[in-house]
Amino acid sequence: MNDCVFCKIIAGEIPAKIYYRDDDVVVFADISPQTPVHALVAPRRHIEDVEALALEDAALVGRLILAAQQVARDLDVAPSGYRLIANSGRDSGQLVPHLHFHLLGGRPLSPHLG
Ligand code: AMP
Ligand code: ZN
Repeated sequence: MNDCVFCKIIAGEIPAKIYYRDDDVVVFADISPQTPVHALVAPRRHIEDVEALALEDAALVGRLILAAQQVARDLDVAPSGYRLIANSGRDSGQLVPHLHFHLLGGRPLSPHLG
């Protein structure tokens, strides 16, 4: 998708601090961090949101979560813990329509999820 900001980051057309990349997944720093560690875990392929996933994406979803685990370890929040969140659709407040998990950590997080 031409005008997708995350596709542009993944293509290297917009700068971002990259924490991890492989053939399927890129993890980069959120430009407006909500927590001391705030990374975004995204597939290279443009998939709009969780709703757009299909059964054949099951392995990719696993890769996304394992990439988040790797970055949590690399950024040293794995021992204290972290949260993975994916917004999907209007009521979630999703701003960027390219599937991503927020990896949040580095301090105790609010118990209020909704
Ligand atoms: P969401 O509301 O789940 O779609 O989250 C989108 C996230 O993308 C927000 O936390 C933004 O701060 C972040 N974001 C938007 N533009 C950029 C960018 N150019 N580089 C890094 N993060 C971005
Ligand atoms: Zn995209």
